[in-house]
Amino acid sequence: MAASAGGASRPVTQRRSRPACIAVFGGTFDPVHLGHLHAAQVAGEALGGIGVTLLPAARPWHRPPPLASAAHRCRMLELAADGKGLGVSHLEIDRPGPSYAVDTLRELAGAQAPRNVEPRSVIVWCIGGDALDALETWHRAEQLPSLCNLLVFQRPGSPHARPPQGFEVVDAAACLASRRSGGVHFLDAPMLDISATAVRRAIAGGDATGALLPRQVWDYIRRNGLYGAAGASLK
Ligand code: ATP
Repeated sequence: MAASAGGASRPVTQRRSRPACIAVFGGTFDPVHLGHLHAAQVAGEALGGIGVTLLPAARPWHRPPPLASAAHRCRMLELAADGKGLGVSHLEIDRPGPSYAVDTLRELAGAQAPRNVEPRSVIVWCIGGDALDALETWHRAEQLPSLCNLLVFQRPGSPHARPPQGFEVVDAAACLASRRSGGVHFLDAPMLDISATAVRRAIAGGDATGALLPRQVWDYIRRNGLYGAAGASLK
């Protein structure tokens, strides 16, 4: 049976060789946009053709609370991921308290190897360079290098991120899939210049969102009147 991320809506790993590799992409996703989806797909390809799991934070501790509820953000992610080989995990949504990555990683590792069976799955945490810069301020950040590898997206307009303490740069993304933990690779692939902030602003201002969001997500936002979209017409 293929390993999968806890709470994921579909299998997310491909057992090419042991240990299995799980790629997770955490975020607020308020809402998920085409920039996230592009990044997740590029990451999956770079890691050897695995499906990346999108992992919405219930209560991000390091930023203001999301505008949309966790249930709405999950539903939008499921609509966006559908048919794209991506998974959605409810792991952080289902866990009470703040959404700390270190707890999520321990939970993922435990779910894969409940009795410390070797080899444990390799976990690759996908992250944008802007978020990486704050990684050392994350809760119990010193434990992260022993729990996961990092795959970093260089977002347009963001300064070149530096490797966080405890992580060693590896030259090829594919190497992360077979390294137990502590590796970081900076993906040399163009990303889309889209942010959820710009999406929320466009919706509230009545601007076109077709180049920013998947159609199904926009329809959902409009139907549910999220981000000030009540009554907006299709664009
Ligand atoms: P906001 O504008 O509300 O801060 P965001 O667009 O940055 O939102 P988040 O949900 O906060 O999206 O980000 C989740 C993760 O996705 C972060 O690691 C972030 O760096 C990354 N990310 C966001 N947008 C892009 C993009 N266009 N390309 C690559 N990575 C992205």
